[in-house]
Amino acid sequence: MKILFLDQSGKPGGAELCLIDIAKPYGDCALVSLFADGAFKHLLQQNHIPVEVLATQAIQVRKESNLRQGFKSLGQLAPLINKVVKKAREYDLIYANTQKALVVGALASFFSRRPLVYHLHDILSQEHFSQTNLRIAINLANRFASLVIANSQASQTAFVQAGGRTDIVEVVYNGFEPKKYQTDKSDINKLRQQLGLEGKFVVGHFSRLAPWKGQHILIEALAKCPPEVTVILVGDALFGEQDYVQKLHQQVSQLRLENRVKFLGFRSDIPQLMAACDLVAHTSTSPEPFGRVIVEAMLCEKPVVAAKAGGVMELVEHGFNGFLVTPGEPQELAQVISTCLQETEITATIASNARTTASQRFDVAIINQQIAQLLSHIVSG
Ligand code: UDP
Repeated sequence: MKILFLDQSGKPGGAELCLIDIAKPYGDCALVSLFADGAFKHLLQQNHIPVEVLATQAIQVRKESNLRQGFKSLGQLAPLINKVVKKAREYDLIYANTQKALVVGALASFFSRRPLVYHLHDILSQEHFSQTNLRIAINLANRFASLVIANSQASQTAFVQAGGRTDIVEVVYNGFEPKKYQTDKSDINKLRQQLGLEGKFVVGHFSRLAPWKGQHILIEALAKCPPEVTVILVGDALFGEQDYVQKLHQQVSQLRLENRVKFLGFRSDIPQLMAACDLVAHTSTSPEPFGRVIVEAMLCEKPVVAAKAGGVMELVEHGFNGFLVTPGEPQELAQVISTCLQETEITATIASNARTTASQRFDVAIINQQIAQLLSHIVSG
């Protein structure tokens, strides 16, 4: 089967990292067309996935854009749609991986007469999207997509509640290669040494720096934790959230936590950095559609504390394979961090349960089989 994947982003967010795992098995039968250049293109190339950048300018419409701004971007979209239509005729299926990719993919699907699959990595609610963007996404998916793959029950529910068709949506979780998360103990000790983390109780936060990812909640919690607790913030402001980055630095200095918070920026050695942590914290203040970092921490056999909302509740069972806390509550988070610091045996059992359940539920080989079956159904039908 020949698949034309579409993604609007040049930057490797969770949806893009997920796409790498889905496209990889198709080798030269896949082509990923991007609407922006950047580090994601290089990651695809490193994984030997054919890639091309179709647009030289980023599309000027954002999640919160209104109808007028949407119309203004049409001029930009027309040549892009044209290119995709021509390309799509060489493929069996168009696979839109983001919202702007859905817009382009829907029209390209209509003109090229190729079926469209939309991979929904978002909770389509007004918390994350403008009313206009919601309406566009739902109407295009309902009218043009043969299949919508939702990355969690939470994303599926939001899609249906916003008016999405129930007969086209299926839940498929993100897949992971469990082997990638097995690390060498001596390498990890060296890494801890390099980062100045020896003798500390390290809480890791792995996410792009953005207000709704709630790094500020973790910093506030840290101020309430014993002094040996240290935080590493792994990730960068991928979509222009520079004001938030500045606020985080201010918060750290106001609370006099400079020696206990390290900003590591965007990193590609996530399994190693997670292995160097004693606990991984997820602190999103809005419901997380899936939460790749949670599964990754589980595969690294690390205890994870996560904000209880959205897809997260499908990943973590409180007290069995992780901890759940109320989103936006630093006091509760600090309490869990302190418990993990003291109750090492129980915490180790929870981390071990986490690894077992995550390797069983999210093995990329099984997830890719599920996707392959759904896609072949679409193409043959
Ligand atoms: N990630 C990364 N480097 C970083 C920070 C994060 O590769 O410095 C990865 C992380 O390991 C995860 C993804 O980015 O696989 C984030 O996915 P998630 O579902 O947690 O959040 P999203 O970005 O999709 O909102």
